[in-house]
Amino acid sequence: MKLTSYWLDTAASPQGTPHDAFPSTADAVVVGGGFTGLSAAHALATRGLSVVVLEADMIACHASGRNGGHVNNGTAGSFQALAATHGLDHAVALYRFFDDAVDTVEHLVADAALECDFRRCGKLKVAWTAKHREALRADQAALARHADSQTDFLDRDAVAAEIGTPAFQGGILYRKSAQMHVGRFGAGLARAAMTAGARIFEHTPMTALRRTAGGHEIMTALGAIRTRKVLLATGTSRRAPNWFRRRIMPVGSFIVATAPLPDALLAHILPGRRNVVTTRNIHNYFRTTADGRLIFGGRANFSQSSAASDVKCGQILHRAMTEIFPALQDTPVAYCWGGNVDMSVDRLPHAGEWEGIYYAMGLSGHGVQMSVHLGQLLGRKLAGETVAIPIWNAPWHKIPAYGIAASLMPAVGLYYRIKDRLA
Ligand SMILES: Cc1cc2nc3c(=O)[nH]c(=O)nc-3n(C[C@H](O)[C@H](O)[C@H](O)COP(=O)(O)OP(=O)(O)OC[C@H]3O[C@@H](n4cnc5c(N)ncnc54)[C@H](O)[C@@H]3O)c2cc1C
Repeated sequence: MKLTSYWLDTAASPQGTPHDAFPSTADAVVVGGGFTGLSAAHALATRGLSVVVLEADMIACHASGRNGGHVNNGTAGSFQALAATHGLDHAVALYRFFDDAVDTVEHLVADAALECDFRRCGKLKVAWTAKHREALRADQAALARHADSQTDFLDRDAVAAEIGTPAFQGGILYRKSAQMHVGRFGAGLARAAMTAGARIFEHTPMTALRRTAGGHEIMTALGAIRTRKVLLATGTSRRAPNWFRRRIMPVGSFIVATAPLPDALLAHILPGRRNVVTTRNIHNYFRTTADGRLIFGGRANFSQSSAASDVKCGQILHRAMTEIFPALQDTPVAYCWGGNVDMSVDRLPHAGEWEGIYYAMGLSGHGVQMSVHLGQLLGRKLAGETVAIPIWNAPWHKIPAYGIAASLMPAVGLYYRIKDRLA
């Protein structure tokens, strides 16, 4: 079993820009070379601006290269809960913002000819209990009425036909959702950005950032760089300024990938090759790959990702996977990895401007599509275009008890596990 991301292991990432080409000025500097930063760099460079990306590690090697590869429409939580908190009109706008995000990924894949197995496969959100099923039924009715006519409620038999197991009580089908090979997407997007003129410096963390009369000066080990526009696209980073760190909680999420499955087994367990997410608080998400593997993920035990926790969580996930698909009992796990999700308190993405610094982060585990979308929108905005972003400068609350929140996460996990058992 390889303890590395299947996506990164099966994609050829481009070399970043040679360090001796590090400039002292640029029109825009993007901090972070995940999907948000790469997408912004691509948008800026294709508009003729000189853009430098600073990446502390390697191109798209953190959340962007370690996720489940679901390019889902719809928000992470229920639509009705969103409408209750934000009002119906804003909930519809937020919901459609995710639809637009999937469209943005699709257009970028087509325009830049990115070979990444992008497919509009649809997503199933499936209910573990009768109570969950009735909540999904009501949510789908509200969606169909207000926000998404391309959803359907499926009863237990219809879900069983989709997933090859009677384990679930019913579910919602969201037809606009998609999937892709995120390793190849990230590599292709970086290549496209560099072809358009962006310079991407790997192993080059921003170590300090200060305001100057004309903009900003950013320090790195390669030297200082001056710019008028800076975008922070730093995900869960502990190296971002304190104001951002206090608003983001890194929460581990973990994945196992099986060896390629026989065609007959694949046709039984996921004939439509859709994305699937389950309704437990400690939920699971799964899909297949173009080479016939099952990619099965979940929050597992609420630890942060590390070599030790990835293996432990892989074992928990294997149990969850075979609970749903007993036929996979003897199928070897070929890959096991984890990554950290940039959780915000309201589980919504955040983008805006703080003290002259542009930012896009807090994507809360629902960011493959939104990172790319926000990157494009912010790139256009920094290039001087007028763009509408429904979450722009929305209130962004601090993580409560931030200093001790990380140490409380296992207890939070236990609370949700008990809640799931009682549901
Ligand atoms: C295990 C897992 C499964 C997931 N599954 C899904 C899914 O199926 N669907 C979905 O929609 N979302 C999913 N997500 C979330 C999604 O992957 C993220 O929301 C998205 O990739 C975030 O992209 P990003 O570019 O904002 O951040 P990242 O990909 O984390 O990139 C941020 C980059 O900034 C760099 N950086 C940080 N600080 C500095 C600094 N000071 N200087 C220079 N560089 C710096 C980091 O090295 C990093 O490369 C998942 C996440 C995880 C971890």
